[in-house]
Amino acid sequence: MNQAAPAVVTPTYDVTLENLFEHPEGRRVLTCIQCGMCAGTCPYGEVMDYPPRRIINMLRAGELEKVFRSDSLLSCVACYACMAKCPRGIRLTEVLLPLVKEQVFINLPETPAELQKALENTLRYGNPFGESSRKRAAWVKTAGVPIRILSEDPRPVDVLWFVECQNSYHPRGQDVSRATARLFHALGIDFAILGNEEKCAGECARLLGETGLFDTLMDYNMAVFAKYKFNRIVTSGVHAYDAFIYQYPERGFRYPVEQTTPFLARYLDKLRPMLTRKLPYVVTYHDSCCLGRHNGFYEEPRALLKAIPGVRLVEMVHNRVNSICCGGGGGGMWLDTYYKAKGHERLSERRVKEAIATGADVLAVSCPYEISRFEDALKVLGYDQKMVVRDVVELLAEAMEA
Ligand code: SF4
Ligand code: SF4
Repeated sequence: MNQAAPAVVTPTYDVTLENLFEHPEGRRVLTCIQCGMCAGTCPYGEVMDYPPRRIINMLRAGELEKVFRSDSLLSCVACYACMAKCPRGIRLTEVLLPLVKEQVFINLPETPAELQKALENTLRYGNPFGESSRKRAAWVKTAGVPIRILSEDPRPVDVLWFVECQNSYHPRGQDVSRATARLFHALGIDFAILGNEEKCAGECARLLGETGLFDTLMDYNMAVFAKYKFNRIVTSGVHAYDAFIYQYPERGFRYPVEQTTPFLARYLDKLRPMLTRKLPYVVTYHDSCCLGRHNGFYEEPRALLKAIPGVRLVEMVHNRVNSICCGGGGGGMWLDTYYKAKGHERLSERRVKEAIATGADVLAVSCPYEISRFEDALKVLGYDQKMVVRDVVELLAEAMEA
């Protein structure tokens, strides 16, 4: 299994709109050929007044104020499609769009209520749900295997498992955490979690242009990491993975980091003989934007699924780099009401229609946001008796059980 390493990228933490063209990534913006590939590939391109191509055009013309005064960029779900397709390699999703969004939010008369609440909760409680940090590791009690919490037992450990918010608090996310713990345990991995010391990694806030909140969370998590001795971080969060790989190094983060799905794929030889239970499912896999388009992990989840006896894997029309976003990234998770009011089709619904068209009975995912988004979309469209949503990790754990 090829362990895809993230591309070597120029750090961009200190880029601002003011110094944009003094930075290599900013100057790259000037190489835009106005081909329109970004707008054409954007899942909300047809409803955006200012897709990336227009933003660059207006940036060059000194007319960005018009973009700042529009709420057009609230439709950007940070799906990395424009960035993946840009022939000039302009890091739109990662660099330019958050800078512009920051100004959009400053000028917005009112932030959509659901999003505002999620941001306030993240600042106050360290998670968008507004849940107490004391409950962050409540799921551990029902995992069925021992799980070490570093604040209670601070001995050095091999893997620091950064669970992230959705898989700590959401009931379906907690199912994934229990399955992950059982797999780690069966594989003999020496792991521990931070428990109530863990807070959101902050990447969705950063992609929204909320850099102050992101900085606060990054500084907090870095200080917690410094308290313990571990060799590597494995995180269930695909957005946390992005934050650790691309942003935290700016604060001296030097730990090797992997996301759970590609991490487990490296253990496939050891895992395969443990997958003894036949699962007679037709499965279609949804490529998460961060794991797939942003980091190139397309084959690892598929290899894990194919290793499960009885599973037949079928592909949706849009797969791998062309996958359609679930609509939850970059703040989209808390903008469904806003999109509905605008009359936009929810991307999660667009995606499950494709999944249903394959004839599969299981929609497999690897991003914590996707389970609740797709389960909800299946229900809304009346397909919830035809298809279930399962994390790849849940299917592996199910196949492992006698
Ligand atoms: S895809 Fe890249 S080069 Fe083409 S218009 Fe968009 S930003 Fe410019
Ligand atoms: S990141 Fe995705 S949603 Fe945002 S502008 Fe690019 S293609 Fe559109």
